[in-house]
Amino acid sequence: MLAEHMTWVEYQEAVKKIVILPLGAFEQHGPHLPLNVDVVIPSRLAECAAEQLEGMVLPAINYGYKSQPTSGGGPLFPGTTSLDGETLIHLILDILRDTYRHGGRKFLLLNGHYENMAFATEAVDLFLREAKDARLVILAWWDIVSEKLVKEIWAEAGFPGWDTEHASIAETSLMLYFTPEHVRVDKIVDDQSERTPPYAIFPPPADIVPKSGVLYKATYASQAKGEMLAKEITESIVRIVRQELA
Ligand SMILES: [Zn+2]
Repeated sequence: MLAEHMTWVEYQEAVKKIVILPLGAFEQHGPHLPLNVDVVIPSRLAECAAEQLEGMVLPAINYGYKSQPTSGGGPLFPGTTSLDGETLIHLILDILRDTYRHGGRKFLLLNGHYENMAFATEAVDLFLREAKDARLVILAWWDIVSEKLVKEIWAEAGFPGWDTEHASIAETSLMLYFTPEHVRVDKIVDDQSERTPPYAIFPPPADIVPKSGVLYKATYASQAKGEMLAKEITESIVRIVRQELA
């Protein structure tokens, strides 16, 4: 199901089915998670869903739009490397255009980085001006987690909202489930910014970003929570794709 492992002969058949493009980022995720969390999570979810959908997963976009202080820690952490909006739009658009040229018509853009959404939407809008018979779904994995599961997983810690959940319970749990060997379990911390203003400040003042880069309580993460999240999200992706792209 991974396009990168296919020959062109296999690809030319697979491209006619569901094509999944994971959208990631290269961004700090606290002292305990690697910089590619936003690539790993949508890529692994894409693989799980593609298995059931007989879909094809394209190589992920490994960089994303600029990390914002109150949803990703912002640009000042070492490593966080981001794209201009225009670059990201054209990167996605070029991939969609060429995949369409090869016969791709049904696309799922599976996002793993909060800040990518508007740029993915713009790329799809521009794409549809030419590709009149293409159909696409854009979804961010956290948006399809059910309220019931949110209540269960955040029962002890309390749910702070998805933007603040950066490098915290959901992402740490999913990484413990998908690639435990990349989680520094002895470095997991709870943290919080001194304040979270409901507006953006440029350049960002230090007190709106926690020093660790963890925006909430990562110590409440577990592999079991990661498994619950992964299973529910995969089921939802499969259901949504069958419903909207059948
Ligand atoms: Zn993330």
